[in-house]
Amino acid sequence: MTRSTSAPERDSRSETDSPSIAVVGGGAVGVTAAVDLASRGADVTLYERGDLAAESSGRAAGVLYDAYAEDVDAALAARAMERFRSFGRSLPGFTFTPCPYVIAVREGDPDADAVPSMVDRMRAHGRDVSVVDPSDLADRFPISVDDLAVAAVAEGAGWCDPASYVAAMGRRAHDEGVAVETGTAVSLTDGDVTALRVDAEGGSAPETREFDAVVVAAGAHTADILAGAGIAVPVVPYRVQALTSRIAYDGPMVYDATAGVYLRPHPTGLLAGDGTEPVAADPEEYDRAGDDWFVESVSETLRERVDAVGGEGPDVERAWAGLCTATPDGDPLVGPVGPVGDERRGRVDGADRLFVAAGWQGHGFMRAPATGELVAEGVLASLGGDESEASASPWIDAFAPDRFDGDETVEIVEGMSIEGRLEG
Ligand SMILES: Cc1cc2nc3c(=O)[nH]c(=O)nc-3n(C[C@H](O)[C@H](O)[C@H](O)COP(=O)(O)OP(=O)(O)OC[C@H]3O[C@@H](n4cnc5c(N)ncnc54)[C@H](O)[C@@H]3O)c2cc1C
Repeated sequence: MTRSTSAPERDSRSETDSPSIAVVGGGAVGVTAAVDLASRGADVTLYERGDLAAESSGRAAGVLYDAYAEDVDAALAARAMERFRSFGRSLPGFTFTPCPYVIAVREGDPDADAVPSMVDRMRAHGRDVSVVDPSDLADRFPISVDDLAVAAVAEGAGWCDPASYVAAMGRRAHDEGVAVETGTAVSLTDGDVTALRVDAEGGSAPETREFDAVVVAAGAHTADILAGAGIAVPVVPYRVQALTSRIAYDGPMVYDATAGVYLRPHPTGLLAGDGTEPVAADPEEYDRAGDDWFVESVSETLRERVDAVGGEGPDVERAWAGLCTATPDGDPLVGPVGPVGDERRGRVDGADRLFVAAGWQGHGFMRAPATGELVAEGVLASLGGDESEASASPWIDAFAPDRFDGDETVEIVEGMSIEGRLEG
């Protein structure tokens, strides 16, 4: 049911008998959740304050893999890759390019010792990942291996253009009947977690609209939005960077774990990145240009790692920065949210009504097809409100938004690191 206090009252439930659900955030997670909710019969409105993919999803590198050591991460990533492949065949405007993903650790890096057991754990979850001798790697791929102690190859990986995914899913959202309201910033109102203050561009007066459920998938803005309803979540934005180069590159995706740099083929030649800035960033005001130190350090890694670059330098086409989000334990927050015991938690007839999906630690895009699906199934199960079927709930305990005490610290670390994968 959707109600507006400044527009004539309408009761969409009486028209459609479908739950009305607002999704806040038109990035990869929000737009996927909106499509999956609508395809399951919900009456969905997707709010995006700018254009679709205006923030992190439009700035992501599009590195996609399933090489995770933890069981829930591996399962989610496997499902995401399955959907990316399927969308590559069926979603107009979206292309998935299969490409192996190499994890490389240099001589002298203590993380080298952890790679075989990490790979064993990935394989135990059915992921097609193998430890390879660096010299065998050189036989297969055009990359330098002389300084490597160990490497692993994930075969089930690939890459895509993230903005094209969001745009294509946005069109599918229209087709599924989602009301896609871009240029519309929303905020939560203190006191009723499912009443949204809706502020459309163009000078019209803000209105308050009420929904059966609200999903906040607002990336780096998530904590600020939930704070509007008095709800604190430990989701901290931080800045990361990427660049594109005109150097022709037709090799695998490579993560040089020792340098903390990843690279992949790109239509202009090559895309490389990480450049994590280990401090909290202000999502309203951060520098969107790549730093000189980042360009220099990536250039050095490319000279060392990619044969094609040789001594010519990476011929940078563009360097940029965007935001990722960290949490105290490196896992995201996906599920119902609210201060436990507070009457504002939003429980109606036993069902949770306010949900969050954020805190991806640099892996939000590659898992979005699975996360959006999880959110859709979880929200609808929660709205069903059948406590007796709690064991059938799709929500993942490790991602429960209420698992924190509130006094944890958030350490900002590079998302793809070996350490991060092992702690998963
Ligand atoms: C340089 C870079 C490279 C990256 N590379 C990868 C990669 O290779 N693989 C990977 O998996 N991840 C990568 N990431 C991380 C990835 O971009 C994010 O994890 C992912 O895009 C998060 O998607 P999201 O939908 O949660 O957030 P976002 O894409 O940020 O979407 C949130 C949306 O909410 C909107 N919004 C905010 N406030 C409001 C409001 N009040 N009302 C309405 N709308 C609002 C924003 O405008 C935004 O469009 C990278 C990130 C960067 C910056």
